[in-house]
Amino acid sequence: MALVVQKYGGSSVADAESIKRVAQRIANTKRDGHDVAVVVSAMGDTTDELIDLANQVSPLPPARELDMLLTSGERISMALLAMAIANLGHEARSFTGSQAGVITDGSHGKARIIDVTPGRIRGALDDGLIAIVAGFQGVSQDSKDVTTLGRGGSDTTAVALAAALGADVCEIYTDVDGIFTADPRIVPAARRIPDISYEEMMEMAACGAKILHLRCVEYARRYAMPIHVRSSFSHKTGTWVKSSIEGSTMEQAIISGVAHDRSEAKITVVGVPDKVGEAATIFQTLADAEINIDMIVQNISAAATSRTDISFTLPRTDGQTAMAALNKIKERIGFDSLRYDDQIGKVSLIGAGMRSHPGVTAKFFGSIADAGVNIEMISTSEIRISVVVDQDDVDSAVTAAHHAFDLDSDQVEAVVYGGTGR
Ligand code: ASP
Ligand code: MG
Repeated sequence: MALVVQKYGGSSVADAESIKRVAQRIANTKRDGHDVAVVVSAMGDTTDELIDLANQVSPLPPARELDMLLTSGERISMALLAMAIANLGHEARSFTGSQAGVITDGSHGKARIIDVTPGRIRGALDDGLIAIVAGFQGVSQDSKDVTTLGRGGSDTTAVALAAALGADVCEIYTDVDGIFTADPRIVPAARRIPDISYEEMMEMAACGAKILHLRCVEYARRYAMPIHVRSSFSHKTGTWVKSSIEGSTMEQAIISGVAHDRSEAKITVVGVPDKVGEAATIFQTLADAEINIDMIVQNISAAATSRTDISFTLPRTDGQTAMAALNKIKERIGFDSLRYDDQIGKVSLIGAGMRSHPGVTAKFFGSIADAGVNIEMISTSEIRISVVVDQDDVDSAVTAAHHAFDLDSDQVEAVVYGGTGR
């Protein structure tokens, strides 16, 4: 008998039928003799719809009220799920994030979990009940206001709860059969990855693989909580995310997968005087505006002008804030102009095996060149190479790299069961 935490995403509980189907799965796990705590997201596109609604009544909804509104989505699904389980003859009880002891800091819309004190969940499990917890939400330690963890935050709730309860596994149920070597919507021949290390999964998540939230993987790694990503629509084994496959006799794959991201923009600061401290001022200005920078490229300065260009990428949603902040220091720095490009995409090759295999970079760039795609920026880590390309070239670059590293499967494995892709 194990203690299992299961998380069901929005597409798995999109309507009454789906909720009944998920309830049956949970009941089966309980019937097999396991203790089950469930974390649930809002039904289907509820969160997006609530945001649309908020924007209709106010162009700038107060963050506290927005959190109050959005957390209602998960309350709907948790209560309905508990009812559906009760209807199958099991006792279930639903809890808000606050009731479940998810304590966060006070930053609305992107709160961080400080502590999880799941006394009531533990009590419910000890009484033989199935506990259902609203994902994506907590309560601020200071203000006692309801907070949300940021879009897609239910994964993090699930892992945090699993760690606090000392669960044996955290199962994340979604609408595909696990993690694939590329987005099956772009590469139909993508292959399921049976096992992946926390480090590789973190790179995948940071590079745009939407299937798991980056913070959830970081959390799982910190607490060594194994995650099993699988579909709620099938009974196939999915992908295990865990510590790098120690003791395994199998040789590690060189490349785990190709991820892509179309959510970034690129800013170029043109004609920055080549003087000590200019880059520091530019990036301090962006830091003060709470903007996260991804890639940075600085060219050597042109001898004639002794000026240089600095380009960087950032979330597109922060683009206008960044441009405004930089324009304010234009005189002080004395740069010529700013250029903004949001028609870019990032393609990343990820694999722990590339550490010890020469030639990976050459092959990756070669495959992109053969696809006729121009590379605008490059960045690397120990286990990742990323390039920025024109947004329209993302699909061809992903397909080419996937093919070059022999990741194509000979049969179509990837089935997308649900979701609207919103
Ligand atoms: N319902 C929230 C969202 O759509 C949280 C989640 O799905 O994990 O972002
Ligand atoms: Mg959702």
